[in-house]
Amino acid sequence: MMQPTGRPDYNWQEFGTKESFEKMKSDRTLQTQAWSKRLQKTGYTTRTLPVALEKAGAVGVVSSLWSAGFGVNKIFSAYTKIIPSVDIALEDYGLLYRLTESNSKPVISIKTDSKETGVVPTFNTIAEIKGTEKPDEYVMLSAHFDSWDGASGATDNGTGTLTMMEAMRMLKKFYPNPKRTILVGHWGSEEQGLNGSRAFVEDHPEIINNIQALFNQDNGTGRLTNIAGQGFLQSYKYIGNWLTAVPDSLKDGLTTTFPGSPGGGGSDYASFVAAGVPAFSLSSLSWSYGTYTWHTNRDSYDKIVFDDLKKNVILAAIMAYMASEDDSKTSREKIMLPIDPKTGMPGNWPVQKSPTRKGGID
Ligand SMILES: [Zn+2]
Repeated sequence: MMQPTGRPDYNWQEFGTKESFEKMKSDRTLQTQAWSKRLQKTGYTTRTLPVALEKAGAVGVVSSLWSAGFGVNKIFSAYTKIIPSVDIALEDYGLLYRLTESNSKPVISIKTDSKETGVVPTFNTIAEIKGTEKPDEYVMLSAHFDSWDGASGATDNGTGTLTMMEAMRMLKKFYPNPKRTILVGHWGSEEQGLNGSRAFVEDHPEIINNIQALFNQDNGTGRLTNIAGQGFLQSYKYIGNWLTAVPDSLKDGLTTTFPGSPGGGGSDYASFVAAGVPAFSLSSLSWSYGTYTWHTNRDSYDKIVFDDLKKNVILAAIMAYMASEDDSKTSREKIMLPIDPKTGMPGNWPVQKSPTRKGGID
């Protein structure tokens, strides 16, 4: 939809009059409804329309998905098979839209390079520090290695990846002979549906059954603000205990939620939770992640906040150390899930899913 404004709401709130802000919002709501109706009438969705246009002979598809911040668009999959799908900035799209509406018949020229490389493998990158006392029990650090191509994926999930790599470097230097084996998994094909981590879970039952704890980070560059228990009843005991070793200066602003509820998706820890593994998400302060960096054309290196990451690295390393040293194996006891209002029955634990191993190619 052509947006009525390229200014984010926080900017309107700060500088607009109350009346103009309210008017803009109600105009936008009406415009959004009209746009959905218009799309509905075609019988297609945002997913199927590009395919229909391609079949009808379009030479390319340009689209614009504003991310509600200055100059920022979200980039997802192209749905066309052969013809290019190109993201176009909000006001470039707005100009085209207005020219079209006024019957000026705009013509645009797109120059784009791409190369069909055929089927290429995706992969997980795994590293290990072998345990000395209990080598067949595991503590795992986790982040995903792939990213969308609108920018370089700096905060999704470059920052998670470098946090876990650096935590491993520190552990290797200061704790070279851990009690349990410490693994780090940098997953491939997370963005297409947790494929790398689901494949690891499916392929390595001997590891999965013996993971003491897994820590995953995948929501931006900020300081850690929350660790939730993912529905493991006893998690407050061991997570709480391990956190006592973390200095207050690193825990400032960090909350815990126990027992929490099992995450069904969103990032790779969910692949493990589904298999009953005590796997936890290290959740970060936003730094405008949802608007400005998550899946956007602005998720680049300049958005990384290294001071925050340094704290996260130390925290992740301490948690891995404490989990490794713990005398007892962690409990996997699950909570009884609350009643699902739709069925009137207790909710079900997320089901382990098989990965897509061929990237959608039959
Ligand atoms: Zn991610």
